[in-house]
Amino acid sequence: MYLLRGVRPLGGEPADVVLREGRIAHVGAPGSGRRFLDDGVNDGVVEVDGEDRLVLLPGLVDLHTHLREPGREDAETVWSGTRAAAAGGFTAVHAMANTTPTQDTAGVVEQVWRLGQEAGWADVRPVGAVTVGLGGERLAELGAMADSAARVRVFSDDGLCVHDPVLMRRALEYVKAFDGVVAQHAQEPRLTQGALMNEGVVSAEIGLAGWPAVAEEAIIARDVLLAEHVGSRLHVCHLSTARSVEIVRWAKARGVDVTAEVTPHHLLLTDERARTYDARFKVNPPLRTQADVEAVRDGLADGTIDVVATDHAPHPVEDKDCEWAAAAFGMTGLETALSVVQATMVDTGRMSWADVARVLSVAPARIGRIDEARPGLPDPHGRPLAAGEPANVTLVDPAASRTVRGAQQVTASANTPLEGMELPGVVVATFLRGRATVLRGVPVERTERTAEGVLP
Ligand SMILES: [Zn+2]
Repeated sequence: MYLLRGVRPLGGEPADVVLREGRIAHVGAPGSGRRFLDDGVNDGVVEVDGEDRLVLLPGLVDLHTHLREPGREDAETVWSGTRAAAAGGFTAVHAMANTTPTQDTAGVVEQVWRLGQEAGWADVRPVGAVTVGLGGERLAELGAMADSAARVRVFSDDGLCVHDPVLMRRALEYVKAFDGVVAQHAQEPRLTQGALMNEGVVSAEIGLAGWPAVAEEAIIARDVLLAEHVGSRLHVCHLSTARSVEIVRWAKARGVDVTAEVTPHHLLLTDERARTYDARFKVNPPLRTQADVEAVRDGLADGTIDVVATDHAPHPVEDKDCEWAAAAFGMTGLETALSVVQATMVDTGRMSWADVARVLSVAPARIGRIDEARPGLPDPHGRPLAAGEPANVTLVDPAASRTVRGAQQVTASANTPLEGMELPGVVVATFLRGRATVLRGVPVERTERTAEGVLP
């Protein structure tokens, strides 16, 4: 059991919060927590002093994580990736389907689901592939994955685009039966053949093959029209250009059931970084221009973009520490996402901590359909910070800062684009169903966790 004294729920006025038996047992004025506990039998209370400064958020939920297991355990495992997630303040992650074997059957998604439960760091929600083997030719067994023990609700060929409009239409129609969503990696493959970075001034000057913004925008435009046509739910992964924001804004105004995500790196970095030829900045979709960065920040602030999702993409050093053309696409993000959102959106006055809770917890939990109690699923995420709710919460110190060092991160891979950068915001504690997975900034191994908490 935990007494969180003098913490600020959603960045508001200081309060005392008690976590007991997996639930938020009490939220009240400073000093009330001790009185609440005195009314019952409460041995083994662990106190955390928030010093009227630490911000309490609902546990973060990532809609877009690559955990690499099965198949690339040299880059990450479910255990190491969810441990990194906990360190970053997450209590649930959606594990993308581009594993080996692909998460395209009930058997594979159940395996990933089980591995997540055994690891115990965060709830793992497997994403199902839309097409068999991400091949883009035949629909995978969407219904079998939805009915499996993993209860899949998000389907994506992420890494690849479902570019065949007939298949995309069928997938959108199919997922309606179980309230699922198709999460599209929007990339017209014929417009991006051989592309290595954003197409623009920088690509022309440094001589790398460019990736036009329209390759993303054309697919998003097509897909919002398809989603409207079949009356289904569409989610746009890692939107990265100004016109993509415009298209989603237009679609939402029409009443299309579309949601969108942006990554921390697209909120912070531009294609100018490619001038270093440092492959840590190579990512799909590519880093764009400053005008695009401004547009995605605006879109996130005004609600056009619903979610910040990490697209955490760990790679072993040999796949990144090589020449740009040969390097893998992708960067890690679980342990730095909250800090980047604070730096770009909160400290700039564009968003409140309540907004942060919305884009990093409430909205992703709703899109993944883990925001309410459902048969066969653990307690929900993205809930209000109120008595009776599940104790999936995160405590962050917004006044602290740290210098990012990839080699010192919890993830098994070191490919962060933020190496050496000083960022605000440090996750002090993460609680999954009332048990600390992180305390005083340090991961708590499962064997050290008890119902009462951990020994101080
Ligand atoms: Zn992707």
